[in-house]
Amino acid sequence: MQLRDDIKNFINSIPSNVTLVAATKYVSFEEMKVLFDNGINNFGENRVDAFLDKYEHLKEYDIKWHFIGHLQRNKAKYVIDKIDYLHSLDSLELAYYINKKRRTPLKCFIEVAINNEENKNGVELDNIYHFVEEILKLENIELIGLMMMSVRYSSHEELLNQFDKILQLRENLENEYNIKLPYLSMGMSDDYIEAISKGATHIRLGRILFKE
Ligand SMILES: *Cc1c(COP(=O)(O)O)cnc(C)c1O
Repeated sequence: MQLRDDIKNFINSIPSNVTLVAATKYVSFEEMKVLFDNGINNFGENRVDAFLDKYEHLKEYDIKWHFIGHLQRNKAKYVIDKIDYLHSLDSLELAYYINKKRRTPLKCFIEVAINNEENKNGVELDNIYHFVEEILKLENIELIGLMMMSVRYSSHEELLNQFDKILQLRENLENEYNIKLPYLSMGMSDDYIEAISKGATHIRLGRILFKE
């Protein structure tokens, strides 16, 4: 895949208080080098094996590594010491494991199943309070925010409604537990503009960085 011709302008069009995490599942480490040379140094991978391959090849680079896909508990050991952010914390089993194995706190977003079809692995709204309550007891989980995916092919209005839901949830959680959840990981190629307008701090972009 080739980068879009106007990649520099595209990157510059993203507000500077929003972190652009390049979703790398479509590309190899070579293409990541080109992205890096264009100023992107936050990368997000979905799969453990692909992550390890890319991590190995890009060790010399000053990169922030995000894991954005579902992380199975039995594969977590391969990645949890290498990543800087986990966007997809979605089970207590995984959280307890990370808490036990990490020597320093791992920055985590809870993936919330605001939309059950897109966030198949996210924490359901019925469970979220209990989930947060347990997470707050774990010293090696640094809970920094919430992550969601919007429903594909939503209209502009529908997108705004979905992002509003997570804003409301964040406010409720902050009030209930007297915590701060400063970061919101939301927005992909088709909805990052709406996501930014609703306060996304981390957008995860894949296809839009490249030519068709
Ligand atoms: C692939 C992927 C993205 C990026 O999707 P695009 O639509 O290509 O921008 C973002 N987040 C997650 C979790 C992904 O798997």
